[in-house]
Amino acid sequence: MKKIMFFTAIFVQAMLIASCQRSVVVHNTAVPKTAQLQPRSDIGIIPDEAVQDIYNQDIYHKEILEKAKKEVPHTMPSVKERVSENTYYKGRAVVLTYHHISNKPVSSITIKPERFEKDLIMLNENFNVISFEEMIKSMKGEYELPDNAVVITFDDGYESFYKYAYPLLKKYNTPAINFIVTSWTESYEANGRDLNLLSPEQIKEMYESGLVDIGSHTHNGHEYIIKNEKEQLGGVLAYQIFDKATGTFESQETYEKRVIDDLKKSMEVIKEYTGDTTKVLCFPFGHYNSRLLKLSREAGFEYFVTTIYGNNKENSNKTLIWRIRSGDAKLTPEKLKESIINCGTGKPLS
Ligand SMILES: [Zn+2]
Repeated sequence: MKKIMFFTAIFVQAMLIASCQRSVVVHNTAVPKTAQLQPRSDIGIIPDEAVQDIYNQDIYHKEILEKAKKEVPHTMPSVKERVSENTYYKGRAVVLTYHHISNKPVSSITIKPERFEKDLIMLNENFNVISFEEMIKSMKGEYELPDNAVVITFDDGYESFYKYAYPLLKKYNTPAINFIVTSWTESYEANGRDLNLLSPEQIKEMYESGLVDIGSHTHNGHEYIIKNEKEQLGGVLAYQIFDKATGTFESQETYEKRVIDDLKKSMEVIKEYTGDTTKVLCFPFGHYNSRLLKLSREAGFEYFVTTIYGNNKENSNKTLIWRIRSGDAKLTPEKLKESIINCGTGKPLS
């Protein structure tokens, strides 16, 4: 079981990387499970034994964790105290996208704990990191954004968020939100692997700290399906499934029920963990369309997090959130600073 969980996580990461690099790893239900779950060295996934080895050497997070435990519970500083010297942009929030943190390069969207700490120092020196909630309020005209507003998001709910990011967020008193796939957290199993997923207890603890918010990344929608006769792949909630064997599509009715049931389930599970109902849905792989948007609203979500490049303006009544990439291994805190300023000042993606 542990092995299956690990390979599933590896597979999930592989799909994620594939989507980020826009080159898709082809699979469908007809592929034997063993073939699906093989780690893929060609996209930067390292083998099982190596990950275990890295985990054993992994002492950095233990030091941070011990230190954080000794610290008093955080209190959010007022925005005034957080205003930086330079004003790069006003009335807009730039939302950052992180995924996984590890001491070894598991993938192109894995950064080291040291890099994340340097990012946090850079962010707190130059920008005002606000919570996702504060940004939403600003878009509704209920909150005035500080200058140089930035929001930190993490996708997928990896356990590395608890191990590395959370102690550092506490250390620098910085808020963040994590979008979790609730079917993954429901089947959590402690296995010591670097690429494991968050447990319900970890989620609860972080949420109760007041520093970490939790949003939905669907219940079981972080998968690809065949979406048409050409055998192109798409997010499982974004399209009706095409059945290669019979040459037919899933009915509209079955599709809609599947999506609504999945999204409502993710809301219920998050409420079990946090006691609160989330209104925020992050689309897996950034795949969405007007039909999925409509169904997501019917399920009760109000804000939708995408992978579209851009900033988020206050008083805009926007419900689609645009983001920039920040958790790429090739980035540095300096390059990230430049990207945020470019995005906040409305420059196109270079
Ligand atoms: Zn994801």
